Formats: sequence, C-alpha cells, structure tokens
Amino acid sequence: MHNATLTSKPSASSRPVDVNASLTSHDVAWHAVPADAALDALRTSVDGLSESEAARRLDIYGPNRLPQGAHRSALMRFLQQFHNLLIYVLLAAGVLAAAIGHETDALVIFAVVIANAIIGFVQEGRAEKALEAIRSMIDPHASVVRDGHRITIAADEVVPGDIVLLEAGDRVPADLRLVKARNLQIDEAILTGESVPVDKTVQAVNADAALGDRFPMAFSGTFVTAGQGTGTVVATGAATELGRISSMISAVERLATPLVRQMDQFARQITIAVLGVSILVFGYAVLVQAYQLDDAFMVVVGLAVAAIPEGLPAVMTITLAVGVQRMARRNAIIRRLPAVETLGSVSVICSDKTGTLTRNEMMVTAVVTADQVIAVEGAGYRPKGGFRTDAGELLDAAAEPILEELSLAALLCNDAQLRQSAAIWTVDGDPMEGALLSLAEKAGHDTAAARNRFVRLDEIPFDSRHRYMATLHARDGRPPVVYIKGAPERILAMCARVASLDGERPLDAESWHRKVDQLAANGQRVIALARRTMNDCICEVAPHDVEHGLTLLGLAGLIDPPRPEAIAAIAECKAAGIRVKMITGDHAKTARAIAVQLGIADDPKAVTGHELDALEETAFQKLARESTVFARTSPEHKLRLVETLQADGSVIAMTGDGVNDAPALKRADVGVAMGGKGTEAAKEASDMVLADDNFASIVAAVREGRTVYDNLTKVIAWTLPTNGGEAFTIILAILFGLTLPVTPIQILWINMITAVALGLTLAFEPTEPGAMRRPARPANQRILSGRLLWRILFVSALMVAGTFGIYNWATERGLSLETARTMAVNTLVVMEIFYLFSVRYVHGTSLTWQGILGTRAVLIGVATVVVAQFAFTYLPPMQALFGSSPVSLTDGLAIVAVGVALLMIVETEKRIAAWVMQRSESPTKTTKHRVANR
Ligand code: ADP
Ligand code: MG
Repeated sequence: MHNATLTSKPSASSRPVDVNASLTSHDVAWHAVPADAALDALRTSVDGLSESEAARRLDIYGPNRLPQGAHRSALMRFLQQFHNLLIYVLLAAGVLAAAIGHETDALVIFAVVIANAIIGFVQEGRAEKALEAIRSMIDPHASVVRDGHRITIAADEVVPGDIVLLEAGDRVPADLRLVKARNLQIDEAILTGESVPVDKTVQAVNADAALGDRFPMAFSGTFVTAGQGTGTVVATGAATELGRISSMISAVERLATPLVRQMDQFARQITIAVLGVSILVFGYAVLVQAYQLDDAFMVVVGLAVAAIPEGLPAVMTITLAVGVQRMARRNAIIRRLPAVETLGSVSVICSDKTGTLTRNEMMVTAVVTADQVIAVEGAGYRPKGGFRTDAGELLDAAAEPILEELSLAALLCNDAQLRQSAAIWTVDGDPMEGALLSLAEKAGHDTAAARNRFVRLDEIPFDSRHRYMATLHARDGRPPVVYIKGAPERILAMCARVASLDGERPLDAESWHRKVDQLAANGQRVIALARRTMNDCICEVAPHDVEHGLTLLGLAGLIDPPRPEAIAAIAECKAAGIRVKMITGDHAKTARAIAVQLGIADDPKAVTGHELDALEETAFQKLARESTVFARTSPEHKLRLVETLQADGSVIAMTGDGVNDAPALKRADVGVAMGGKGTEAAKEASDMVLADDNFASIVAAVREGRTVYDNLTKVIAWTLPTNGGEAFTIILAILFGLTLPVTPIQILWINMITAVALGLTLAFEPTEPGAMRRPARPANQRILSGRLLWRILFVSALMVAGTFGIYNWATERGLSLETARTMAVNTLVVMEIFYLFSVRYVHGTSLTWQGILGTRAVLIGVATVVVAQFAFTYLPPMQALFGSSPVSLTDGLAIVAVGVALLMIVETEKRIAAWVMQRSESPTKTTKHRVANR
C-alpha cells in the first residue's frame, strides 16, 4: 500500500510530487483530474489511509475545522456593557454631579455603572461559554475508510487523502474528489445558492468548470439528498470552498429570543418614558416646589435609576441560558435559542415510533414460511437460540431449506454488524438488521463467511419512501441472485410466487396479508423477504428489476418493546394538556398495538398514508386533528400534518431523522432531530437534538421550557414592582413637597444590591410542582398580561405605603432624618426580599416549607443582601458615604414585620385571584379539558 511506504519515509519532500504542497494549494483543479490520478496524487487508495498516516496528516494539516469567526474580544464585550441608554444617562449624570461639587454622589454613580458592567460581563461570558459547550455536544461525524475498515470519526479528524463514504442525509465533511457515485445527489445551496440538488458523477470535467458544474466533487458543508458515494478528501478546514467564502462565519449566536427582544424593547420604551417623566418632575421640583437646581438634578437621577429596569434583559438572558443548560442535562440539546421559549407552549408532540417511543432493541421472534409458523427463541442480539414449530417441537434449522434461505437473505440484504464485548451483544447499524443477523446465525449461518461467499455486486439502499432494500449477490458458477427485504405490503405486491418445501407455487396474497396482520396485531414489526434469480450475469440492479416477479421466502416478526419511560412521559403529556401523535412508517396494525401499549389512546384507529392521500383538504384537516396514530406515512405526510395542525393555532414539536424529514422539521415550531440515528441533514434542520433519541427527553424539555417561561415571568414580576415602588416613592415625595424618605444616592445603592443579588436568583428557580398539570400556554399570550400589570401596580403601591409608613412612624417619634431614611431604605430592601419569596410561586402559595426554605441561589442572594444592609446601616464609612445611621433592634424588628405583612397581603391577593379565576373559568374549563385529551 502507498501509505506504508509513505509512513516509512516521513520526509514527504523527497517524493517526486510534493504531497503537502499539492494538498494545501488551491491550484489543483481536482475536478479535472481523473479519480485514479487523484487517489495517487493524494497517496491513498480505496482502502483508505492507515491510522498512523492519518494521525501524521492531522498533525500537518490541522483539524478539519473552519477558523472560528472573530470572537468579540473581552475588552469589546466589556465596553459593550456600557452601550445602553441608561448607562449613558448615568455617566452624564456622574460627570454633572462631579462638576457641581457632589463628589460623593458622582463616586457612587460611577461605582454603580462599573459594578453593573462587571456583573453583566461575567454573566454574559458564562452564558456564552455554556451555550458553546452544549453546541459542541452535537458536533458532526463522518464515515471514513481507514486500514480497509469503515469507521465513524469526528468530522474534524478528517484529513486530506481520507476516503469518505457518503449517503443520503450526510453533511459532506470536507472537499472530496468522488471516486464512486451511485445516484448521488447533493444540495449545494450553501455554496452556490442553487437549491436544486446536483447529480454527481465521477468523470472529470473541464478545469475551468464553474463551482456548480464540478460534478465529480463534493464540497464541505453541502448535504447529500439521495444516493451513495465515495470520495477522497482533497481539502479540509479553511482550505475548502466553504472555508474560502465563510472565513468570517460568526461562531456565537446572539443570545436573543422573541421574548428577550420584546422585553429589550419594553425596557427601552420605559427608559424613554422615564426620562420624559424625569424632565417633568425636574421642572415641577424647581418651579413649583422651589428645589435647588443641583438637588432637583440628583433627585431626577435617583428617579431614573429607580424606575428603569436596566438589568431586566440581562437577567432574562441568563434565565434562558440556565434553561438551555438544564435541557442539555436532560439530553435535549437546543440548537436555536428561541426554541427554549417555544417548548413551553408546545401543545402537540408528533413523534416517531421506532427508537423514540420504543426501545429499538429488536429481536425476531417468529418466522412464517409457506409451510409453517416457526417461533424463534433467544434473548437480545445474542445469536443463540432454537426454533420451534407451532406444536412446540424443536426444529433442526439445517433441515429446513426455506428457513435457511430466508435467513441467508436476511443476512445478505443487510448492512449491520453484530458485536460482542464481554457478554453483551450490540449492533453497529440498524437494530432491525442486527436482529435479522442474529436470526441468521441462530439458523446456522456465519455472517462473515456468507458475505464473502456471496459477494454483493450492487444494491438499492433502503428509503422510507419505497420501503424496501435489495442487494445483488454473485454465486459460484450460477447467475447472480437478488435478495429483497421490506414492508410486507410492498414486497407482497412485487411477488408472483412463494417458495415452499415442495417447490415454488403461486402466491395467495390474501392469505399472506392475514398472516402479516396476525403478527402486527400484537405490536410486532413485520418484514417480508424475497428473492429473484437473475437469468444473465448482470452486475447492477435497478428498481425495475425487483418490482415484479419476485419469489416470496417468508415473513419475519420482530418485537420492539415500548420504552417504559415513554409510557410515563405520555401520561405526563396528557396531564399537561399536550396531545401526542405517533407518526410512523410502520404497519398500521403494529403502530396501533404499540400505541395502545404506550397509552397514547385506548382504541385508536391507525390512519395510513394511503388513506391520507385519498382525502381532500377538509377531511384531511379533520382526520389530522382527531387521529393519534398515523402509519405507513412518508416524510411528505409529516409536512402536511404539521401545516394542518398549525393552522388552528397548535404549537407543534415534530421528530424526524431522515434527510426527507428536513422540511417538516423546519416547518414545525420545534423540530426535534435524533442525535443517535438522525442524519446530519435532519439535525441541521432542527431546533433541538435528542442525545438519547428518547421521547421522554422531549417531554423533559417541554417541562423545562415551561419552567423557563415561568421564571422569566417571575423575573419580570419581581423587577418591575420593585422599580415601581422606588420610583413612586420619589415621585410622591416631590409631588406633595415632602422630604425625600430615601435619598437619590440611597436609591442607587438599593438598585445595585438587590437587582443582582435578589433578581438574578429567579433565573435558577426549579420547576413548580404543578407545571405539568396545567394546559399549554397559548402561543400568542403576552408575557405582560393584565394579571401581571395589575400585580406590578398593586405591589408597587404596597411598597410605597410601607416605605412612607415606616419613615413617618420614625419621624413622628422624633428620630433623626438620617435614622428615618436608613429605616426607609431597609424597609424597601426587606419588602423586596419578602416579595421575592412570594414571586417564586406564580401558580400556588409560597407559604409552604419548601417555599420558605428557598433554593441555594435564593439563600445566598438573601444572605448577601442582609450582610450588605448591616454594613450600610452600621459601618461608619458607609454611613459617611450614604448618610445612613444606626437603627435600634425594635425598629429593626418593626421593619421585618412590614416585610412579613407585605408577603401575607400579596399571598392573600394571590389566593383571591386564583379563586376568582377558577370561578370564572370553570364552565369553560371542562370543554378545554376535553379538547386537550382528544
Ligand atoms: P419507522 O422508523 O417510523 O418505523 P421507517 O420509515 O423507517 O419507519 O420504515 C418503514 C418500513 O420500512 C418498516 O416498517 C419496514 O417494514 C421497512 N423497513 C425499515 N427499515 C428497513 C430496512 N433497513 N430494510 C428493509 N425494509 C425496512
Ligand atoms: Mg426507521
């Protein structure tokens, strides 16, 4: 092999052709070089590189990765924290304050601005890192040949000269010169903008061919839409065509979702409104209340700081990032951030059956031939087990010619490989094919020997549209034979005869359909196997060769038990008002039986793709809404179902794994791709990838999605009233010409301490107990609902009342202005703390042990604030800075009592509101429930 000589001579420059130079240079028009010449020039062969040579080349050429788009530098990120209207106002105010001699005020203002920037910087950095780490969990893989074996490696380990295998759904990992192409079609829209897939061939083309006409090339980043191919890598990483056009591709997705954008805009509107109000207040204070200009100015600065929810968008972003991390921990990897929000309002989940709702650990338990029904024994994929007749007698497989040929067909028309490590047998490839291999070995075949003896000349790969697979095999001294396996209806339609112990006889399709139904009715997946002996020595097989005149060998029935965790997850969906629909390519009876076992429906009717096709639009809509099981569907049906269900406002999560599922995944509100068995094309089109292909993970993600939405609401419900309370306190004082109960600089302090230490804790709130026992949130529900607005006003008013109350109580008793103000400040903070505990439960009471104990985040936050307030009240330097003064123990207790009172009032309001809502909703609730359970 070339490689051996190359590795033994590490100095590549001693070779006549400098391989290193040719590989990195763009000057080689590989599309004009014949395939063999390309292999030679790259010192490789169809057997691939050796591992050691691949490692050497990886060293030379580096990982097959695009250069990361310019990451914002840390300095830029820090400076960007200041790019905010409020900060500009504050900076201007600080400069002005310094100019008019209020140095302490200026100092505090700058301290607040810088503290804000640092916190924002750190949090944003952490959120971005977390998201990047999660994204790297779904890094693409590639199939390559090394040392003559097909293996799967991370796409960034691909090196020039590697032999890459391509099939439908793959993302081309690097620029390839094709050496084999079979019906290969590639979508090159990413490079050429041309959305019609290009037919690929291996014949060289003109050196000056345009990119879109370089038929013997497959370019990095493009998607295989059909067929199969093999190519050798000519360029990796930045040297690829993709690398050339997209060296600037940005690596980080902006942390923005519709909700965050909505709140960002809302915060900006508030800022502008507050600035307007501030100018009015300023005029009023100076003209009507005869304030000094500089005092009035500081009051207005305090007002602006109090009223503007500057931290809100940042805290919301962190809440989202926390949600994404939690979903990743539950095996749901978010690819597009807005999906985090959408997940919370999902009302229909359309799921695959095989592997998602079932375990995909298959075993053949029955074989049906023309002469008998044979039970197959064994456990898992272990290729040991006997055969029994109907009557329970042990069969000698070697004496059963039909069983033998059927299992030979099952072994040859098969791409899987069984593997044993310790006592555990696993499958490389399709689990169903693994089960068929196990069957063949039980019947006495040796997989490797049989595959060597009957060399595969050609194949028609499985495709979920035509639902069969065929392979052409050479036989010694005889014309070749085609073995076909696939969905029974499909295969039976192509068969004219059936093999039996007394020779072939005409097929009685009717009776065979009954046999299929019997197997399917208990949830078994049924596969039919057939053969066709060819008359001439052909070495290629096309669909028209196999779609008629076959001889049926028999049926295999496979069990694929439901996932126990899927059963629980489906029950959870029902309680949560989420409808679950199973959309499968499998047989209607099988699908129905599994649906019943899973509890999707008690007595569902499985609608087949065929039936759907026959319907006109309105009937289709009705069936789409009412049915829960769809069988023998093709990917086109998925798209049509999503569109129809969306039309009545449902929010759809749809699973998919094949290349043809991409349109439906894109169209669904949350497209869910399988991380394990899914193709790169499906992952690319999806919003979320399931690391474990498990239905239960979708439901876990929905649950986290609801939690995130609740937490976002909590962040808003806490931030706005605390801002409101502070702002109205100032406005009222000015309006009525009262002494300010809280000075502007003290307002700055409160904002700096509480917004971070308290507000941020809500991002980490766990799921509320009833989160999955209420119906899905309507997709168009505004986050600032009437209820929330009322709550904001109500709590703001309570906070104003508490602050003024304590302040007046203190001054009436003759306490100093400093002490009265210190008490007012502490009251505001204490009320914010107690209100935090109330906000933690939107949907229920907070007055439970769990509610009082809080989370770690809450406790740390509260402890921080308490320590800060003690420092504020009792430390001399703080007293000098903020004009605070010590508070007595009894006064301190009174302040805490105000906090407790606020909590009680808010909780009472919550109860009354819940009661009122229940009463007004109860007549409609039952109908809603019925809809939800359909
Ligand atoms: P699903 O994954 O939803 O069960 P598929 O579209 O993968 O459905 O498969 C549909 C049908 O095609 C299966 O029920 C089976 O009869 C047949 N089939 C699936 N995989 C293969 C395969 N590798 N070879 C032949 N037939 C297959
Ligand atoms: Mg499948």
